[in-house]
Amino acid sequence: MMTLQENKTKIFNQVAQATIEAGRPQNSVTVVAVTKYVDSEVARALVDIGVTHIGENRVDKFLDKYQALKDYDLTWHLIGTLQRRKVKDVINYVDYFHALDSVKLAAEIQKRAEHPVKCFLQVNISGEESKHGFSPEEVEDALAQMADFDKVELVGLMTMAPIAATEKEIADIFSKTNLLRQQLADKKMKYMPFSELSMGMSGDYKIAIQNGSTFVRIGTSFFK
Ligand SMILES: *Cc1c(COP(=O)(O)O)cnc(C)c1O
Repeated sequence: MMTLQENKTKIFNQVAQATIEAGRPQNSVTVVAVTKYVDSEVARALVDIGVTHIGENRVDKFLDKYQALKDYDLTWHLIGTLQRRKVKDVINYVDYFHALDSVKLAAEIQKRAEHPVKCFLQVNISGEESKHGFSPEEVEDALAQMADFDKVELVGLMTMAPIAATEKEIADIFSKTNLLRQQLADKKMKYMPFSELSMGMSGDYKIAIQNGSTFVRIGTSFFK
């Protein structure tokens, strides 16, 4: 059992190292610390050692952490599936929403948000049935339907690799996601900068950084 400080140092060093090895600019990858495994006091301990990006995958736990830590200057990430009926409870505390997976959900965000919310469109590149997200073929039509949503700022794409995938398969999924992001960014649509990629968790963040990820979502490695 290592301390939080040791884990944090190791993760940030490895992310920096992977960024350099990928030939990318320093600090071009943001570490989102996923606190879903721990309570608010452990999350506070992370903040006290310098973590500033906090991620939660469920609305109730997001709100718990937000309430406990709202006096700190943090960036808040909702990384998991969001039901439409819960949008109004949470969306105005969210800086980045990583799991936009339907046009209907985008319409609800448009209706409830008081500020533009930075959103990642979730794509399901592997075609795995259990995964949420748009297939690459659906993306263009969906974007056309979201074109006038000024509260839904589409900063880029988010994806997850299947649990059983090999390193080669994971790299393939991440590189395809980056290619798709680039194609969409080239269209230069309103409210859709598409400059970011949310890819990579504890087990695969190095592969994600090699393939252009700008936000890695790391939980387990902080708390083991
Ligand atoms: C839990 C979770 C993570 C973090 O996964 P670890 O393997 O614990 O690093 C990342 N993204 C999402 C959407 C999650 O739910």
